[in-house]
Amino acid sequence: MTVVFPQAAGAAPITQDVLTLPRKLPEGGPINLVGLTRDQLRDALIAAGTPEKQAKMRVGQVWQWIYHWGVRDFAQMTNLAKDYRALLAANFQITLPEVVTRQVSSDGTRKYLVRIAGGHEVEVVYIPEEGRGTLCVSSQVGCTLTCSFCHTGTQKLVRNLTAGEIVGQLMLARDDLGEWPVQGAPKDETRLISNMVLMGMGEPLYNFENVRDAMKIVMDNEGLTLSRRRITLSTSGVVPEIARTAQEIGCLLAVSFHATTDEVRDRLVPINKRWNIETLLAALRDYPRLTNSERITFEYVMLAGVNDSDADAHRLVDLIRGIPAKINLIPFNEWPGAPYKRSSNNRIHAFADIIHNAGYASPIRTPRGEDIMAACGQLKSATERGRKSRAQIAAEAAE
Ligand code: SAH
Ligand code: SF4
Repeated sequence: MTVVFPQAAGAAPITQDVLTLPRKLPEGGPINLVGLTRDQLRDALIAAGTPEKQAKMRVGQVWQWIYHWGVRDFAQMTNLAKDYRALLAANFQITLPEVVTRQVSSDGTRKYLVRIAGGHEVEVVYIPEEGRGTLCVSSQVGCTLTCSFCHTGTQKLVRNLTAGEIVGQLMLARDDLGEWPVQGAPKDETRLISNMVLMGMGEPLYNFENVRDAMKIVMDNEGLTLSRRRITLSTSGVVPEIARTAQEIGCLLAVSFHATTDEVRDRLVPINKRWNIETLLAALRDYPRLTNSERITFEYVMLAGVNDSDADAHRLVDLIRGIPAKINLIPFNEWPGAPYKRSSNNRIHAFADIIHNAGYASPIRTPRGEDIMAACGQLKSATERGRKSRAQIAAEAAE
């Protein structure tokens, strides 16, 4: 008998057997203020008894304490009356995901394993560089997509992060780096975390609203104040959300391109079966116009013998013609059981030269934090280890 899977009839199999959990928020108890947009914060303060007339001022004050000063305790909000502080403390909390472990690489890269509500875990990476520092944040626990070269894609358990859990990653990294301003001290303009990339675990455009709200908080001109041009969102190519990213977030865009024919891209980035190269490129052509933004970054992982030929480089240049772009070549980072090998240095440089000669910047990304498995595509939290197999659950049920 031939078994026909529904996917074979046309719909692309872009997800594997994943266990997608609903967003899990603690029920009852004080509401966490981290992650509320200004409007949501206003509503929450009013619901707790703040007179409407004062609401705007109170939002400004509380916002500044949380996101500018990094205060977690309402008692320290000294410009608020004591009884108002007590009202806040009775109704709200200011909490971040919990840092479970922190590893520091020999090159200075830091990787945090962070626990969120429900006991799930994600990874956050801080990459210090000359004159700047980049924080790589996660948008989901695991990822529903299954790019064949990506460690995160092998993690079966998936849950969207809340806006608070996304902003919280930046705040906990600032805690660790000691990067909150000190009251009364001269203003220090140097920033340890000067840039942020949504390139950790997960597909940010499959968690659009939470990512957007989190970025609104991060970009707000009071508080964390990272400019939209210092934030890069990387997507595997969720075409319908690309224009929305331009309109509702306005940050820089990176796209995981990785192949120059649909045949190869289908294998590497399976979402290509739903939105192929042509459809993706059409969405990308509109992006800079919609955001009035800079170039789009095309990420291209270098896999030996798979996508790294001279012909690939020439095809890539032809495909992206007309799009303001830079091509970021990522030497493949290995992980246990990975089915690919990294292209040789000579091959990567030859590929880069072809692109460069066609007039595009083609930087080769230096792998960072490889010794602590913090490099691109190596992130995978152990959450699923706690998960029991169907067989185990069935066996236990039968006991
Ligand atoms: N899910 C988003 C963002 C996270 S991945 C996306 O796919 O764009 C950040 C980048 O690392 C992506 O370009 C991804 O394709 C790439 N990547 C994944 N696994 C990798 C690996 N093992 N080696 C090198 N790059 C990898
Ligand atoms: Fe998900 Fe990105 Fe990894 Fe693909 S590369 S599986 S989209 S995290």
